[in-house]
Amino acid sequence: MTPSSRRLLLASIHDVSPRFDGEIDRLAALLHPHVGERLAMLVVPNHWGEAPLVPGSAFATRLRSWADRGIEMFLHGYFHRDDARHVGGTDRLKARFMTANEGEFMALSRAEAGKRIADGRKLVEDVIGVPVAGFIAPAWLYGAGALEAVSEAGFALAEDHFRVWSPASGEQLARGPVITWASRTRLRLASSLAAAGTLRRISPDVLRIGVHPPDARHPVLVRSIDKTFAIAARKRRPGRYADLLAGRRRDFQ
Ligand SMILES: [Zn+2]
Repeated sequence: MTPSSRRLLLASIHDVSPRFDGEIDRLAALLHPHVGERLAMLVVPNHWGEAPLVPGSAFATRLRSWADRGIEMFLHGYFHRDDARHVGGTDRLKARFMTANEGEFMALSRAEAGKRIADGRKLVEDVIGVPVAGFIAPAWLYGAGALEAVSEAGFALAEDHFRVWSPASGEQLARGPVITWASRTRLRLASSLAAAGTLRRISPDVLRIGVHPPDARHPVLVRSIDKTFAIAARKRRPGRYADLLAGRRRDFQ
């Protein structure tokens, strides 16, 4: 079957940081036969405050060459880790159990979120030499302050687990959950394989698939990712998030 031009496959590698350079290379190689350079990378400026992206470093040079080849670069938080104290019990539970404290932008004030966005954007854009494609919060979690700061920054694109939207225009661009794998614990790994199996059978017009560095360490996940992309690419054209903009948006709603 020929892939329909109306149905898009959007692939992304999360947590792109010098901390995970080996895993990122392996994931890029795994996805390449399926999507080529039609891929997004989600860049963390300083993962956990321990892995700064340094202009002029070998990793920064690789990031720039990926961007030069057309890979979309998104700003993905700043530190990635949620160090804030959550006031509400529900938020605290959500932060701890759903994301292993990776929801950096859940509890930030508008001012703090805005500062981290401005600092991170400047750093990443200095490194890649072009504007970032957009912003995606760690663990897809946005608090009220973060949402305001993302709108204020005027990014063309943002996404959470269930949708893609344009903070610049306020328009929703695509709906449907992201297929992703969780590899932190054996239980989560098993449940994410089951979820990916189910999600492979659903059929949104825009199918997003996101992979994370730890996925590359588990052969069972690598096989699942490979199979999922093979199935998804049969009926969809690998595309870029920017394809959702530029007047073609209505085709993908
Ligand atoms: Zn992340």
